[in-house]
Amino acid sequence: MEGLIMDYPLTTTTILKYGNNAFKHKKVISHLPDGSRHEYTFGDLYKRCKQLANALINKLGVDKGDIIGTFAWNHYQHVELYYGIPGIGAICHTINIRLSLQQIEFIINHSEDKVIFVDASLVPLLEKIADKLETVEHYIVINAPKKFSTSLLNVIHYEDLLENQLEEYEWPVLNENDACGMCYTSGTTGLPKGVLYTHRSTYLHALTISTPNAANYNSSDIVLLIVPQFHVMAWGYPYLCLITGSDMVLPSSHLQPEAIISILQEEKVTKANGVPTIWMGVYEEMKKNPPNPKLALQEYLVGGSALPASLIKNMEDDFGIRGVQAWGMTETSPLGTVSRLQTHHEQLSEEKKIQIRAKQGIEFPGIEMRIIGNDGSVAERDGKTMGELQVKGAWVIKSYFKTNNRDNFTKDGWFRTGDVSTVDDYGYMQITDRTKDLIKSGGEWISSVALESALMSHPKIKEAAVIAIPDEKWAERPLALIVKATAEELLSNEELREFLSRDFANYQIPDKYIFANQIPRTSVGKFDKKEIRRRYAQGKL
Ligand code: ADP
Repeated sequence: MEGLIMDYPLTTTTILKYGNNAFKHKKVISHLPDGSRHEYTFGDLYKRCKQLANALINKLGVDKGDIIGTFAWNHYQHVELYYGIPGIGAICHTINIRLSLQQIEFIINHSEDKVIFVDASLVPLLEKIADKLETVEHYIVINAPKKFSTSLLNVIHYEDLLENQLEEYEWPVLNENDACGMCYTSGTTGLPKGVLYTHRSTYLHALTISTPNAANYNSSDIVLLIVPQFHVMAWGYPYLCLITGSDMVLPSSHLQPEAIISILQEEKVTKANGVPTIWMGVYEEMKKNPPNPKLALQEYLVGGSALPASLIKNMEDDFGIRGVQAWGMTETSPLGTVSRLQTHHEQLSEEKKIQIRAKQGIEFPGIEMRIIGNDGSVAERDGKTMGELQVKGAWVIKSYFKTNNRDNFTKDGWFRTGDVSTVDDYGYMQITDRTKDLIKSGGEWISSVALESALMSHPKIKEAAVIAIPDEKWAERPLALIVKATAEELLSNEELREFLSRDFANYQIPDKYIFANQIPRTSVGKFDKKEIRRRYAQGKL
């Protein structure tokens, strides 16, 4: 028997209208690329989204189902695009500005973007490939200075596009299962693949992430969105903040540690997000120049790669700021798990508690996970058995856009993440590696993530990445690429072996250590192990 409840679509417009009704006075603050500060309210955002909706239809001829690209930093105009484009039934495709030009060209042609909204400071990148972009009819330039010229054709300035557009617009009733947003995977594992989010998945993801066991936001929070809007819908934060009534602070291109600290200070930010690299930089800068007065920041949510236990501890001991780890992928909208302590952890030692927080955590309601062991069966939740992490849920991909990748899905409907993990008795998942990054030495698995985390807790080490290198006797051996805390630091292989021997068996400890000034990174700031392996093979490490 069907229930007798209204069929009320869960869409991004539902969120936008709610933000306007419940939190009209809350703020969207942008630190724009030219250094200026812009502030308006959720109420202003609502009106501007309606103007944008009118302009998309009347001036650009955008239809329902069209894919509209954005190539932009985090700022209020980009938030308007996050709501205005899906609000008329089109799809907001955020393009990662840090990919190679070849990948960007591939992505734009593959998704058949009709219009691209681009930040003035990023126009030079698009100019280089514009003649190869087959479907783009208009470029809308955001934040252009007074004197601005470009070789792009059919250019309209964003403010000119919105000018004279009515602040009235009747939002259409949309099907919650229609696509609203799109993002390509960053391609650490091959060609970028398109993920098409639905209104419903976006709504449920944002609503769930806002809850106390997850991001824990409410209307007293001031949130700094460091995760780029051009990457995995900024982890849903532009939606999350309208649901929770939290003020939103957007840093655009000001992503250097000094700039982030100054924004945290000026805006009295209470919560923030970002990949570990960002927070490692912020921590180091604060160690050198401790902020005075103290920051209002209580918590930073980290994902994208492992949050080192040493960073959790140092940030908390030195500045009283809590790191919370989450795990996710472009294919999971992105957040799938989060690690916070529960009452049953209270009796544990401080060190053990940090170890739990350094795990990737429990799944969100709406997501299920399982580990498939070497024998193909579902592994025990014993915290030891490693296997492939598979997930399913209300915001997990069911297939890629225009790509048949059946290998990424199991016959019984689970998504294969490519991560290798364990899950403990209390349901806390811990990533030990990505399938292709695992090291198999003499038939035994070695976790590169565990080695990296241990090395990074060494006081003389700033960063460490571990890869597998071929070995005649053992098939593979681990190699550690290390950036020292300061160039003058003396650090011997013996000292490192000795340090690691406290936590690792002899066979797990790398024999080779290479010291470098920096570690190659991907477009989203993760260690680029493919590149490290390539350089090693060419003798260029
Ligand atoms: P790509 O798959 O192209 O690298 P994503 O940004 O979607 O792009 O990355 C998802 C991957 O990032 C996950 O499969 C996992 O390997 C890694 N990852 C994400 N969050 C964490 C985390 N908290 N700890 C360790 N690894 C993580």
